[in-house]
Amino acid sequence: MTVSSRVSGTPIPLAQPNISEHDIELVMQVLRSDVLAMGPFTEEFEERLATLAGRRHAIACSSGTAGLHLAVRGLGIGPGDEVITTPFSFVASANCALFERAVPRFVDIEETTLGLDPELVDAAAGPHTKALLPVHVYGNPCRIDLLEEMAAARGWGLIEDSCEALGSRFKGRPAGSFGDAAVFAFYPNKQITTGEGGMVLTDDPDLAERMRSMRNQGRDEEGTWMHHIQLGFNYRLDEMSAALGVSQFARLESFLVKRDHVAALYAEQLAGLGWVRAPVVRPHVRMSWFVYVVTLAEDVPRDVVMAKMEAEGIPTRAYFSPIHRQPYIRERFEVPDEDLPVTASIADRTMALPFHNNLPLEHVERVVDALRRAVEST
Ligand SMILES: *Cc1c(COP(=O)(O)O)cnc(C)c1O
Repeated sequence: MTVSSRVSGTPIPLAQPNISEHDIELVMQVLRSDVLAMGPFTEEFEERLATLAGRRHAIACSSGTAGLHLAVRGLGIGPGDEVITTPFSFVASANCALFERAVPRFVDIEETTLGLDPELVDAAAGPHTKALLPVHVYGNPCRIDLLEEMAAARGWGLIEDSCEALGSRFKGRPAGSFGDAAVFAFYPNKQITTGEGGMVLTDDPDLAERMRSMRNQGRDEEGTWMHHIQLGFNYRLDEMSAALGVSQFARLESFLVKRDHVAALYAEQLAGLGWVRAPVVRPHVRMSWFVYVVTLAEDVPRDVVMAKMEAEGIPTRAYFSPIHRQPYIRERFEVPDEDLPVTASIADRTMALPFHNNLPLEHVERVVDALRRAVEST
């Protein structure tokens, strides 16, 4: 389902995976073998990701959401426990707590990083607080070092949702290296894809063993196929996906360079326009661009602008639509916008522009031109 530009020139997709002949060849190699699940590509993919994040253990799973769920359950977070997280994220980062009947406590974000604001954490904490679950929004690391210190000092767990930040670095440390467990995701719009897929990482051997077992129907590593030591899930990644992951991963660095280039083209085109702010990359951050999201000035009607661009065939997306405003969350928790003022304001003004590895200058110009005309005619 790609929304594309229908007007002039070639269509402009909102996002686009990058699949090479080598990717296809490696997947075909799996299909020609007898091992379609739990094989060497899964192990190799796990090793690659563990090395990237400097972690002892990596456990491939069927999605990023599955990885987050394994981390929550693996840390023993259960009914009535509270997990402090951000409302400015994809629903999976709160759902993983809800799956275990734990309660997500939404804390507002910082305007600079769009991540969980460390200064607001203590006021939201209480006797039931069990863990922090921060998110690196759009690939831009939040102040994870501070959050890691806070979690350690207060005896909380820390789950790093790195699903949008594969390849990012914060003060020299890779995303995925912080806290008790970290999670990556490989849906087709992420920096690299396996189709569906995710990876949960940790340095703790016991946590790793619990998560490995739960991923595989609660089996024991040493036991037989029909021996189950605990309640588990089928959260395994198949070999076709893992092979695609291995092949894609080999090109991660070149993807990040291309994405840097496209982001720089956008920044140039947007410079000097007073009613829009391009994303800010802080000096101690290596940004792995996931999406390209701009923030409009308060007096610009974002939804009108998006509709006008859509009419010109330029796809955009209001991103994120925050978690506390989702109907099923509202029904249960009723967190008013006034309690989350930064999130509420940012969520009404942000907008993802078309973005992928090979977006040419001509398309960047068409997007920014359509944006300019849409804003100036409102
Ligand atoms: C992509 C993503 C996930 C995981 O998504 P899946 O579709 O389950 O792989 C989790 N959290 C965030 C913030 C994401 O962007």
